[in-house]
Amino acid sequence: MDWHAESILDRLRFEGHIEDREFDTLIAETMLDDELFDSLRQSAVCTAAENHNGLKVYLRALIEISSHCRSNCLYCGLRRDNGKAVRYRLSEGEILESCDKAYSLGLRTFVLQGGEDATLSDERLVPLIRQIKYNFADAAVTLSLGERSEASFKALFEAGASRYLLRHEAADRALYESLHPTPATYDGRMEAVQQLMRIGYQTGVGMMVGVPGQMVEHLAEDLRFIAHTKPHMIGIGPFVPCRNTPFEGASAGDTRLTMIAVAIARLCVPNALMPATTALATLLEDGDTEAILSGANVIMPNFSPQRVRGEYAIYDNKSLWSLNTAADIDRLAARLKAIGFNIDFSRGDYTEQR
Ligand code: SF4
Repeated sequence: MDWHAESILDRLRFEGHIEDREFDTLIAETMLDDELFDSLRQSAVCTAAENHNGLKVYLRALIEISSHCRSNCLYCGLRRDNGKAVRYRLSEGEILESCDKAYSLGLRTFVLQGGEDATLSDERLVPLIRQIKYNFADAAVTLSLGERSEASFKALFEAGASRYLLRHEAADRALYESLHPTPATYDGRMEAVQQLMRIGYQTGVGMMVGVPGQMVEHLAEDLRFIAHTKPHMIGIGPFVPCRNTPFEGASAGDTRLTMIAVAIARLCVPNALMPATTALATLLEDGDTEAILSGANVIMPNFSPQRVRGEYAIYDNKSLWSLNTAADIDRLAARLKAIGFNIDFSRGDYTEQR
């Protein structure tokens, strides 16, 4: 093992921080050195366990409420200009039914995810969130609906949503701008993340690994951003190309590099909630457990109604984790048990560092 990279890893593990310039070295050396790779992942798992009372995985019910989007992110199958994307919207009744199904299986977080759909107005979402909180008082509502105005973020928070996922996508301004055509702006995204944190949301950021134009230095910049911002949730997955987008012919992101980024992020924010992404599971057999063994501690099974399941096609061949029955939960529990982890059915809120 390279002694310099090993000493960087030791400091990150035991002191919780490293110099800004050392992120690049740690990433590059871990790509080359299997022993360092194993050591990094083991450190990440130990850190997650120490900060979450053991080897546990939280479950979140993912409900994809709309595949309409006004934005045009170059990498995404739901981008506005993709005329071939399947577009749908769930009704309030369908969303509540999905919550009910997840709740009856023991899940206590609902993640309402959708594109930037103008029909998802506050007038529609506020009563819906209130109704969910009324029906399932001990459950948490997480939103993942893209950028909105600060007033809207506040209204949804006051209605009862307590968490918001908004990937920062790229901490490097030029890379961000190369992926997101105007009117999306780098400053707008960064400000939105800050607004969410100020309002009091448990806030999630994250990025793709290997998106076209991204270099190792960009990834290091993303990890520095995470280390300095200390988000409550962090989602990191590999880029997966999607047909009918400008990047349809691009190569997918590297799975090993993705696991390295997950593990480093875990060490930078020991108490973060970090999902195993479907993107990693799409590219890698047992990608969910590989992510857990890199420091992730959340799995988000899909509870969208059957009629639309699989239609939220942000990239090709998207892996689908479905839990329809108690037997499905038992099977997932057995797979996690095989790697030493248990399912935690609590809400799994972010708590300050132990
Ligand atoms: S990444 Fe999100 S905001 Fe961008 S096009 Fe896809 S659904 Fe819309």
